[in-house]
Amino acid sequence: MAWPIGESTQMAVKFKDYYEVLGVKRDATDQQIRQAYRKLARKHHPDVNPGDRVAEDRFKDINEANEVLSDPEKRKRYDQLGANWKDGAEFTPPPGWGRANVQFDDLGSIFSGGGFSDFFETLFGGARSGAQAEHRRRGVRTRSDRGQDSEAEMEITLEDAHKGGRHRITLQGTRPCLGCGGTGASSGVVCSTCRGAGYTSSPKTIDVNIPAAAREGSVIKLKQHGQPGTSGGESGDLYIKLKIKPHPIFDVSGDDITAEVPVSPSEAVLGATIEVPTLEGKAEVKIPPGAQGGQRLRLRGQGLNKRAGGRGDQYVKLKVVVPSHPTDREKQLYQELGEASHFNPRAGWLKEK
Ligand SMILES: [Zn+2]
Repeated sequence: MAWPIGESTQMAVKFKDYYEVLGVKRDATDQQIRQAYRKLARKHHPDVNPGDRVAEDRFKDINEANEVLSDPEKRKRYDQLGANWKDGAEFTPPPGWGRANVQFDDLGSIFSGGGFSDFFETLFGGARSGAQAEHRRRGVRTRSDRGQDSEAEMEITLEDAHKGGRHRITLQGTRPCLGCGGTGASSGVVCSTCRGAGYTSSPKTIDVNIPAAAREGSVIKLKQHGQPGTSGGESGDLYIKLKIKPHPIFDVSGDDITAEVPVSPSEAVLGATIEVPTLEGKAEVKIPPGAQGGQRLRLRGQGLNKRAGGRGDQYVKLKVVVPSHPTDREKQLYQELGEASHFNPRAGWLKEK
C-alpha cells in the first residue's frame, strides 16, 4: 500500500478517528493517552478474548491509535488533517501530503504479521521509498540487527579430540518470541509469552563437526547458531569451546600422551615384553632388563594427531609394584633372594641428598 510521492492518489480509505478509538479528547496529554491505551489494551487483549474477532480488530485499532498518538511526530502529522473528519469517512490524503519523518522499520518489527490499516499506511506509508516498500512486500526488513554471538562449552573424550568426528550437543537455544515478534512488548504492554525478554528458550540440538587434532580449549565456530537477530537480522555465531574429559589412562602434554604402567619387580629386573594400551588399541612394549620405576619408554608416533600432520609420541612410564598379599612360596623366594643378593638400593643415596 505504498502511496506514490508527488502524485495524487485517488485511493480512498476509511478515516480513523484515533482519539475516538482511545476515548480521549483531542487535547489529551501524553499521560492521558497512555492510561487510556493501557486500560483498553488490557481489556481487548487477544489473550483475554481468545477467538473473538471483534475484540481482535478492536485491539488492532487501539494499538494503531496509540502508535500514532503516543508519538509526537506522528500525532502532529495526524492532527494536520484537522478535527472535522468522522471515523469511517471516505478519506483521501490532501494534495501535497508529502514525506513524513517517521521510522517505519521499527513499526514493521513491532507489528510483524499484524500490520496497520490502509488509512495508517496512506498517512504514513508515503515516507517509504520504492525499495523499502518492495522489501516490505517481500518481508525483508530494511533495518535489522544481527543477533549476538554466544558461547558454549563441550566436553569430549581424548579419543574424540584425537580423531575428530561429528558430535551432537544440546544447548538451551533461544528464538524470537512469537508472541511479540521479538520486541518484548505486545501492543505496548509487556509480552505475556516471554515476559518482556523478546525471546523464548527451548533445547536445541546441534551436530558439531570436531576436527581431528582438537585440543583442550580449541574453539569451534558455528556460523549463525548464536542468538537470533531482530527484525530478520541474521543470527550471531556460536563459539564452542572444547574441554577434554580426564582420561582414565593417559595424561596429555602437548601432542604427547603418557600412560603409567605397573610392572613387577622381576619384569623390571629381567626385562619383559608387555602389552600397553594406546589411543587405537594396544601395543607391545619391550621393557629392558634393569628398568627403573619412573623410567619412561617412548612409543614413537603413537601420540595425538597434530594439526599440521603427523603425530606426537606415547610414553610408557614404568611403575614397579610388589604383591600386596604374597603367597608363602613367594615370601620364601623373596627371602632367599634377599639373602643371596648384594643389591643395596640405598648405596650412595645419603651422599646424594
Ligand atoms: Zn514476547
